Amino acid sequence: MFRVLINPEAYARLRHLVAKSLPNEIGFLGLIDEIRDANNKITAVVVSEVFLVEQTVNSTETTMKDNAVANLMIELAQRDVDLSRLRCWVHSHADGQVFWSKTDDDCCAALANGTFAVSVVTNAAGDLLTRLDVYSPTHMYLDKVPTEVNYSLAPEVLVALDAEFKAKVTLKVTTFWPAEGKRTKKTKGRPKDKESIFDEQPQPRRGDRPNIYQAFHVEDVQVYAETHGLTADELEAQYAEGTIDEDEIEDFFYNFQYAGV
Ligand SMILES: [Zn+2]
Repeated sequence: MFRVLINPEAYARLRHLVAKSLPNEIGFLGLIDEIRDANNKITAVVVSEVFLVEQTVNSTETTMKDNAVANLMIELAQRDVDLSRLRCWVHSHADGQVFWSKTDDDCCAALANGTFAVSVVTNAAGDLLTRLDVYSPTHMYLDKVPTEVNYSLAPEVLVALDAEFKAKVTLKVTTFWPAEGKRTKKTKGRPKDKESIFDEQPQPRRGDRPNIYQAFHVEDVQVYAETHGLTADELEAQYAEGTIDEDEIEDFFYNFQYAGV
């Protein structure tokens, strides 16, 4: 899915200036880099740098000065930046919500450059709303484009981090102990000395049926298995398959209880 990534440095600058401008809005222009797949299709764009441009602001709008964009372009040209990368517009809605106002829509339409542009609206809370405007063969846009800060690490840092993880982090193996589950008539009132020490219930092992140990105590499973010529594992498997159901086991213990009185 197409997404927008923001360079962490650019994002940090953005957040600082958005906060500094409060309670007023603020706007930026940004450079993007395209990420393409093996078929040369753009899968993501990276907002690699954002620039504060000369502007007037208040709490409901930000207006770039007439020569602001031209001045930025001159500055970028002097740095040998490919000006076709300048196709990102970011602005803040100060303390408000993020959405596209009529003015914002007009602004996105005005960015028309023959290809595409990426626009981001943010706010003091740090919400991000991103749209991709495509201008050819007609103007249309995709809203709510997934957007995230591009916290990628250098390959050598990743290797070192993985090695550190392997050295310091080990999986804690927990011994299965049957959960309390549903008490049978026979086991009601049994002392709570053999109950699960884990909050998590064991997960069903196959199909959608719960594990037998979620429904019955381990002793009951053994008693039922022995009296029916099965091993506990066989009983567990039959229960999981539905060959033996909960009612059958409950009825057995109901009768077992009275037989034993
Ligand atoms: Zn706006």
